Amino acid sequence: MNWISNYVRPKINSLFSRREVPENLWTKCPECGTMLFHRELKDNLNVCTTCDHHMAITPRERFADLFDGGIFAEVKVPEPLADPLHFRDQKKYPERMKSAQKKTGEAEAMLVAEGEMGRTPIVAACQDFTFMGGSMGMYVGNAIIAAAERAVELRRPLILFSAAGGARMQEGILSLMQMPRTTVAVEMLREAGLPYIVVLTHPTTGGVTASYAMLGDIQIAEPNALICFAGPRVIEQTIREKLPEGFQRAEYLLDHGMLDRVTHRKELREELITITRLMLSLPPAVKGELPAPDEATAPALEAPAPEAPKKPEKTA
Ligand SMILES: [Zn+2]
Repeated sequence: MNWISNYVRPKINSLFSRREVPENLWTKCPECGTMLFHRELKDNLNVCTTCDHHMAITPRERFADLFDGGIFAEVKVPEPLADPLHFRDQKKYPERMKSAQKKTGEAEAMLVAEGEMGRTPIVAACQDFTFMGGSMGMYVGNAIIAAAERAVELRRPLILFSAAGGARMQEGILSLMQMPRTTVAVEMLREAGLPYIVVLTHPTTGGVTASYAMLGDIQIAEPNALICFAGPRVIEQTIREKLPEGFQRAEYLLDHGMLDRVTHRKELREELITITRLMLSLPPAVKGELPAPDEATAPALEAPAPEAPKKPEKTA
């Protein structure tokens, strides 16, 4: 036992054995099982490169793609009361919240932002499925109201991306009360004559489907997204019948008149720009760089002012 084995050796070991490797380099596609490299997956907007399965995407990643140059400003959401029911299952609710916040780096399951999309000013709200399954509690209700109020204030359309396992059971009846609250928020937009566009992503279920996620002027879904109130397993067990192929999936709902569009995530931004501008009676968006101004319309450049003649230097 000396200072070399106690101090120097661990120090050297820590210097040389430290590996700067992020933990989740590979993600397994839940649909086809392909191992996908994280960078490749990120470049492809979290869509599997093999089977086109649309995986969950965080609000920040989505907004980075949606807004021009990835620039947006967050809209502040009022904090609700924490743990009003003192709910506890295997874990206390505040503990569950803390671990979700640590895992995602977000305060709650919805992010609201304002910015421009194809030079069209909008307000957008996005639900975060990685945060406690995107469950709708009081905060999500507050977020939707904040988004609607901001949209009315700025006279902008609201685009909402839904993804949720349903209401947040830890908030009991208070989470269910968000269904009428958010419905009123949508009504506010309608009264102001502003478009409300919903993009349903995999999965959107329960109380979320039963309220704001189904009230859009335009209903778009991502391919193969599960959209339902009660899930297929529950229905199958209740009615004891085999359900048809693709039941409650985006394409099935489109065929049955529940949706307007099913759009691939890569084409979603362009489509949202087109639809939003159509609804606002704006001319089509400018694509790419702006053309150079015509010579006739460009302001004539002023000739540089002639240099003032130099004063003769004073001689002593
Ligand atoms: Zn896949």
